[in-house]
Amino acid sequence: MINSLLIANRGEIACRIIRTARQLGIRTVAVYSDADAKAMHVRAADQAVHIGGSQARESYLIGERIIAAAKETGAEAIHPGYGFLSENAEFAQAVIDAGLIWVGPNPDSITAMGLKDAAKERMIAANVPVTPGYLGEDQSPERLQAEADAIGYPVLIKAVAGGGGKGMRRVDAAQHFADALQSCQREAASSFGNTQVLIEKYILSPRHIEVQIFGDRHGNVVHLFERDCSMQRRHQKVIEEAPAPGMSEAARAAVCDAAVKAAKAVNYVGAGTVEFIADASAGLHGDRIWFMEMNTRLQVEHPVTEAITGVDLVEWQLRVASGEPIPLRQDQLSITGHAIEARLYAEDPARGFLPSTGKLEILDFPTNSRVDTGVEAGSVISPYYDPMIAKLIVHGETRDDAIALLRADLSHLTVWPVRTNAGFLFRLLDDADFRRAQLDTGLIERRGEALTIDPLPGAADLTHALYFLEQDPRADTLLITTGLEGFRLNRTPATERAVNVSGERVTFEIDRGPIQSHFQQYRREGDALLVHGGATFRVTPDRTEGGPGGATGDGSILSPMPGRIVSVEVSEGQAVTAGQKLLVLEAMKMEQALTAPFDGVVETLNAVAGAQVQVDTLLVKVSKAD
Ligand code: ADP
Ligand code: ADP
Ligand code: MG
Repeated sequence: MINSLLIANRGEIACRIIRTARQLGIRTVAVYSDADAKAMHVRAADQAVHIGGSQARESYLIGERIIAAAKETGAEAIHPGYGFLSENAEFAQAVIDAGLIWVGPNPDSITAMGLKDAAKERMIAANVPVTPGYLGEDQSPERLQAEADAIGYPVLIKAVAGGGGKGMRRVDAAQHFADALQSCQREAASSFGNTQVLIEKYILSPRHIEVQIFGDRHGNVVHLFERDCSMQRRHQKVIEEAPAPGMSEAARAAVCDAAVKAAKAVNYVGAGTVEFIADASAGLHGDRIWFMEMNTRLQVEHPVTEAITGVDLVEWQLRVASGEPIPLRQDQLSITGHAIEARLYAEDPARGFLPSTGKLEILDFPTNSRVDTGVEAGSVISPYYDPMIAKLIVHGETRDDAIALLRADLSHLTVWPVRTNAGFLFRLLDDADFRRAQLDTGLIERRGEALTIDPLPGAADLTHALYFLEQDPRADTLLITTGLEGFRLNRTPATERAVNVSGERVTFEIDRGPIQSHFQQYRREGDALLVHGGATFRVTPDRTEGGPGGATGDGSILSPMPGRIVSVEVSEGQAVTAGQKLLVLEAMKMEQALTAPFDGVVETLNAVAGAQVQVDTLLVKVSKAD
């Protein structure tokens, strides 16, 4: 077994690899960029080496620096994680040439599977069923169009060098082909530096089924069953599960055999994933599942396979890289229960899933899940890397059990003020088709706003929030805000409450059958965070006397809720009298006037008619008249 390992990655996957290495008594070395100087993976490792600037191309993508760091620290092996250099055959070769152990497949296997067209050719030769399509050298638009016409629409144009859901265009009719091809090639050129494309039949009712395989240097290849990753947004996985719901033993045998055949065809060593697309219009059948591509690395969603098989895949990677045989034979592997993983992202579904960066002031993870993360409260989500906060992985006896566990965990997760997709995930778990495993890769897109807009909490939940805030006698209304919207609620009496005090944190929980909400005290006295349906809202008692308006004692007028400025009634330097209208704000389809708190002069004016403002933005400052 190797004694020391450098992890050429960051975030949750670096932490996850370090965890297993530790257990095996392997010394670990982290590498980090400027932005990651204080990152969790740096602290988790025995040693850490700074390798450059915050942009990945200035650090995590510079192979020579990483190899130099391994040499410097005496690390024997390099684990690439996923993303970054993990599927870069030249880097793998450079690691080997430097006399280090590469925790991954032979560079030749990476190359063989690196380009989607060459990989498909190779699979056809190995008798693995592939999606029907055109893989030719002739890339003239005329030829590609003719091939698409012959395949029959809809078709999918794919950049052969594509990955991460990029460089793909679905075309539904011949007249749209030329435009789609151009835009696909433009994206391929800028993302992958390679404009070559292939054309595939677009499978209707598509399900993404993938098989975890493992090979060693002694000629053994086993599979660790399948995962279903059909819950995707823009071709990127959001929820993954294992085993695939509705998979018959016959279909499983067919797809897993095809995966083993694929791995053997490229002399595969280590952990890999063979991805298939299934036509699930009439259930899953072995003869309607086709090879799509192979990912020659550990996959983001590997934990669901670990959950159902009891295997630590990183341990297997390290053993196999050290020259040991695969620890178990095929007949010693079996499936226990059902596992689901949800990817928690720092993004705002209500704003087109825009990444939400900033400091994670509050980050409280639930308890049922295995949480794979590289951040903690106080960490910063930077704009430089993938905005994944964590993966929540649950394991239940049945699929329904697993859904219930994940649902409960999402309803207890508190993240603030960074916006997340937790509410989106929560509603996805509640989707009727998801529940009955009527899965396909288009489900999320079809649901649209039903999944992306967090419904505001209902009266019952707010009643409890009111209780929590009761301690502030000045508050007669509550302000509920999300990143986008806000509304006010009058204080009403309530009849029941549940309190749980632990340390300095007061947690309120109401369990009303399927609906669970919980409240958490926020840093600022009197404010609370209300976690409802996965989404986190802030509840603020309104302390202003005489109605709405966020005036504070020093004459600063803050926006009481997010909204749009309808009109500005004053100008800088103007004298105003108490109660005079300063500006009008529209929020939640209602207009409200913000007024001067006392006689004085408009000292600062930050409001512009038509502008959108966030809650607590300083709009006007009035200074007292002497
Ligand atoms: P998985 O099935 O493991 O999610 P993906 O192909 O989606 O596989 O990619 C895995 C990781 O690699 C993701 O974190 C993704 O952001 C990153 N990644 C994949 N391809 C690219 C790419 N072309 N450029 C940048 N990052 C990529
Ligand atoms: P990437 O390298 O970006 O992961 P893939 O070839 O694995 O690219 O495809 C990504 C996703 O696109 C799949 O998971 C699936 O949802 C969809 N997809 C790919 N090929 C097809 C196809 N022929 N028909 C329908 N959907 C497809
Ligand atoms: Mg893929």
